[in-house]
Amino acid sequence: MPLRTSEEYLESLRDGRQVYILGESVEDVTTHPVLSVPTKHSSIEFDLAQDPDLKDLTQAELETIGETVSRYYQLPRTPEDLLKRRELIEYGSEVGLSFPLFIKAIGSDCLNALHIVCEALDNNEGTNYSPRVKAYRDYCASNDLALAGAITDVKGDRSKLPSEQSSPDFYVHIVERKDDGIIVSGAKTHITAAPYVNEFLVLPTRAMKADDSDFALAFAVPVNAEGVKVIARPDSVKNQFDFPLSSRHYHIEGTIIFDNVFIPWDRVFLAGEWQYAGALANTFATWHRFTGLSYKGPGADLLLGMAQLIADYNGVGKASHIKAKITELIQYAETIRVFARAAAREAEFHAGIAFPNPLLANMGKYYFASGYHAALRNVQEIAGGSVVTAPTSRDLANPETKEYIQRYFAGAEGVSAEDRLRVLKMIMDMTASEYAGNWMLATLHGEGSMEAQRLSMYRQYDIQRCVELAKKAAGTN
Ligand SMILES: Cc1cc2nc3c(=O)[nH]c(=O)nc-3n(C[C@H](O)[C@H](O)[C@H](O)COP(=O)(O)OP(=O)(O)OC[C@H]3O[C@@H](n4cnc5c(N)ncnc54)[C@H](O)[C@@H]3O)c2cc1C
Repeated sequence: MPLRTSEEYLESLRDGRQVYILGESVEDVTTHPVLSVPTKHSSIEFDLAQDPDLKDLTQAELETIGETVSRYYQLPRTPEDLLKRRELIEYGSEVGLSFPLFIKAIGSDCLNALHIVCEALDNNEGTNYSPRVKAYRDYCASNDLALAGAITDVKGDRSKLPSEQSSPDFYVHIVERKDDGIIVSGAKTHITAAPYVNEFLVLPTRAMKADDSDFALAFAVPVNAEGVKVIARPDSVKNQFDFPLSSRHYHIEGTIIFDNVFIPWDRVFLAGEWQYAGALANTFATWHRFTGLSYKGPGADLLLGMAQLIADYNGVGKASHIKAKITELIQYAETIRVFARAAAREAEFHAGIAFPNPLLANMGKYYFASGYHAALRNVQEIAGGSVVTAPTSRDLANPETKEYIQRYFAGAEGVSAEDRLRVLKMIMDMTASEYAGNWMLATLHGEGSMEAQRLSMYRQYDIQRCVELAKKAAGTN
C-alpha cells in the first residue's frame, strides 16, 4: 500500500533542494529552527494516514492503479466522495489546532482541475494532455507525494496581460521548446508549504489572450530540479507558553524561482493553449475554495472555545452580551460548514468526477473571509486588554515577580494565574500576534482575493432570471 510514514516523508525532503530563509541558505529543512516547525506540522498528514482507526477517512481506492492510496489522490466520483474529502481536510485542521495540514490538499486541487480542463481541451483541440494528467496522478498516489499548488505569479503591473508586461518574467513562461520538453522561466509567489513538499504543480493564474500563449502553461516539477529555488517567507522561533499555537502549527509560504528549468513533455499539461488558461485558473479556484471551506470550521470553533473559556475564567461567562457574541461565533462556525456540505451535495459532474458547486464554493469562501475580522473582534471584546498587556512565561519563571503574578493575575474563584495566562496567551497568539495578522490577511487573500469571488458569483448567478421577475412584478416589458 503506497502510504508513507512521517519519517519517510521527512527523509524525502533531504534531497539537495535549494531553499533560502532570512538571507541564508538552508541545509536541511527538517532540522532548521524555523522551517522544522511547519515541516513537523505537515508530517501529521502522514501520521493520520497510518492510523488504522482513521482508515475510512484518510484512505481511498484509486481505480486506475487498483490500490488504496491517500484519499487526496482519489478520483472523486460522487458528492459523498467530496463530503469525505471535506471531512478529512477538517479533521487535519482540528488536529493542527485550527491550522490546515495542506500538503496534499492544494496539489490535489490542481490535479482535479487539470483532470476536468485537460479532458475538454483534448476533446476540443485533439491534444493529448489527459493521459499525462492521469499518469501523473497515479505517480503522486503511488509515491504518496507531498504536493504544492503553484498558481499565483508575481504579476508585475496587475492591469496588464502577461505579454504586455515590461518583463516576461512577471509570469512563468516557456523560454524554449525542445524535442524532449520545454525550458521555463519566471516565479510563482505566496506558495504554501513550498520549502517542504516533494513537487510543485504549476498552473496559470489568469485568463489569457493569443499573444500570451507562451505563458499559458501547466507542468509538474520536483522541488530539487536543477534551476528551482525557493525563497521562504520569514518567521521566528517561539516558546509554547506565550505562543501556544504558532510555536507548533503554521505553514511557511515561499516564492519559487524557475531559472531556466527543463520540464520533460510527460510532465507538461498545457503549453500554449491560451484559451484554456482561464478555465484552469477558475476550475482550480473552485476546488481550492472548497478546500478553504473545509478547513475553516475548526478555527472558528477554537475562537468560540477560547472566548467562552476566558469569559468563564473572568467570571462573566453567563453575561447576556457574552452569550450574544458567542452566538454570533456559533453562527460563523456552522455557516462555513453548511456552505461546504452544500457545495459537495450540489456538485456538478465534469469529466466523470464530482466538482464542488462553484457558486456555493465561492459564496462560502466570501462568507468566511468577510466575517473573520468580526469573529476576532468578538473574541477580543470578550477577552479584554490583558490579551496584549499580560506578563509572559519569563515573568512567571522569575522568582522576583512570580508571586505577584500568581496573586494578581488569578481569575474567578479557583482559576489560577497560570491557567488564565495560558488562555490569554492563546488569544493573543490567535487574534493579536504577528501570526494572527498573517492569518487575517491569509483569510482574505488565500484561495483568491474577495474580488475574485465577487466576480465568480456574478458570473454564475442567473441575473437575467431576476430581471425578468422584477419586470413581471413591475408590469414592464
Ligand atoms: C497566506 C497565503 C497563502 C497562499 N497560498 C497560495 C498557494 O499555495 N498557491 C498559490 O498559487 N497562491 C497562494 N496564495 C496567493 C493568493 O491566491 C493571492 O494572494 C491572491 O490571489 C491575491 O493575489 P496577490 O496577493 O498577488 O494580490 P494582488 O493580485 O496584488 O491583489 C491586490 C488587490 O488588487 C486587486 N487587483 C489585482 N489585479 C487587478 C486588476 N487587474 N484590476 C483591478 N484590481 C486588481 C485585487 O482584487 C486585490 O484587491 C496565498 C496567499 C496567501 C496570503
